[in-house]
Amino acid sequence: MSSSASSVRYIFTTGGVTSSLGKGIISASLAKLLQARGYRVTIQKLDPYINVDPGTLNPYEHGECYVTNDGTESDLDLGHYERFLNVPTSIANNVTTGKIYQTVINREREGAYLGKTVQVIPHITDEIKRRIQLLGETGEFDIIITEIGGTVGDIESLPYIEAVRQMIWEMGSTNVAVIHLTLLPYLSTTGELKTKPTQHSVKALLEYGVQPDILVCRTEKPVSNDIRRKIALFCNVNINAVIESIDASTIYEVPLLMLKEQLDKVVLNRLKLPLRQEPDMAAWKDFLGKLKNPIHEVRIGLIGKYIELKDAYKSINEAFIHAGVSNECQVKLEWIHSEKLDHDNVKNQLGHLHAILVAPGFGERGIEGKINAIQYAREKKIPFLGICLGMQCAVVEFARNVLGMKDAHSTEMNPETSFPVINMMEEQKLITNKGGTMRLGEYTCSVAKGTRAYQVYGKSKITERHRHRYEFNNDYLQKFEADGMIASGINPDSSLVEIIELKNHPWFVGVQFHPEYKSTVLNPHPLFVKFVKAALDRSHGHIDNKQEIKSTSLVD
Ligand code: GLN
Repeated sequence: MSSSASSVRYIFTTGGVTSSLGKGIISASLAKLLQARGYRVTIQKLDPYINVDPGTLNPYEHGECYVTNDGTESDLDLGHYERFLNVPTSIANNVTTGKIYQTVINREREGAYLGKTVQVIPHITDEIKRRIQLLGETGEFDIIITEIGGTVGDIESLPYIEAVRQMIWEMGSTNVAVIHLTLLPYLSTTGELKTKPTQHSVKALLEYGVQPDILVCRTEKPVSNDIRRKIALFCNVNINAVIESIDASTIYEVPLLMLKEQLDKVVLNRLKLPLRQEPDMAAWKDFLGKLKNPIHEVRIGLIGKYIELKDAYKSINEAFIHAGVSNECQVKLEWIHSEKLDHDNVKNQLGHLHAILVAPGFGERGIEGKINAIQYAREKKIPFLGICLGMQCAVVEFARNVLGMKDAHSTEMNPETSFPVINMMEEQKLITNKGGTMRLGEYTCSVAKGTRAYQVYGKSKITERHRHRYEFNNDYLQKFEADGMIASGINPDSSLVEIIELKNHPWFVGVQFHPEYKSTVLNPHPLFVKFVKAALDRSHGHIDNKQEIKSTSLVD
């Protein structure tokens, strides 16, 4: 069934009191429930910062940069949306103030405003509304949930709230609903949940002309009926529209908590949409049951340089949760700083691990630690997965320590190296701008039969998402393959090496792409699933040396 643009419903989620309340998870949980009732739903994130996209942001400041199939560098919340809904997002799902202003200023330069003074209202707000409705116009969705970044009251998010006000006025309140996510702080001295910050935050929204319909209240204690009534009365909402969102042990529990609170029903009633079927959450419940009751446990080291902020590796972390469940196994990730690893301490730091992952990244800092970790994993036959920079480091390590190319390196770290085994792609050499200029998004990869990679994927044509500037240098491929590191995945159009693996190792795979972006609750990524399985085998003392590698190369 396709919906006409006019029948599409819009739901906005705003945040109050403080940041980091989890608007993304609440939006994704609501979307999951509506999807489980048979609605076609997507989620969009509006980010009030002036960067055009988060691709240029330091991971320490904003966490991971998530990449969509169409190559958009986007906010990490889009990762949650995909992991929950199992539906890909695209460029239209993430809008920043930078993008809005860039469009408006370009139009102004083209003379499109016919001499008018270009202003926040109506020009910026019109562009915001246009971006919100773009997804509705595709005909692919019945409901668009738009999450507004930041906290109500921030100067930066004002034009977005104004756009919401205008949309309610233009489309009527049946077509637009506003959910305000707020915090009920608990005062341990008096043993009470306090509602005043919520009242003030709703008041701030009202000052901008927006009355929220539903309040989702983050809380560490259950919200009593008395408190619900008080909030409803002071904030002018129905009592059943005061939703408790109690702290959960995992984000994957939140859809079921929201189901219990009937958030989906309240929203559908509010939008005068039929409830359709009871949400089918069987697969989700099965996942959660296994997540909470693992049978096995493995310890996997994640070697990276942004480990102080776990959000910098968000999708990898989540992919391990999905893969763990699929193996009925709890994956205990040990976050290891690559700058702290050297030749002498590597055994001490990594000896107890069942598997080692070397993370993506940029720049020279911590590189030698990553290379040391890889040498250890290769020599001690510990299962290894290298992602993007992690794969490139595996190539450098092999060149140096197996092929005897002592100063081999990636030209990203050492442009003067005598063995540039990882090199900048030709088309990248002339690019000077930093934003949105890497090799981004989905590319096809041919997987050679008889390889570990083929055993993982079970097919010879795959697509995976990329985000990098440097590549394996094919001038060296024959040398690598002759000594046991083979290219088991190749881009069929450009011959770029996408997957490398070792022949004489129980499980050693490096991928130039980012498998973590594609892992979802319902579709755990096979690379992570099989990597965790290899860790599990190691923890049980099984070593899979039987994997026969017949194919040597995909490159002519
Ligand atoms: N810095 C490397 C490159 O640009 C790897 C990037 C990454 O790990 N995402 O190719």
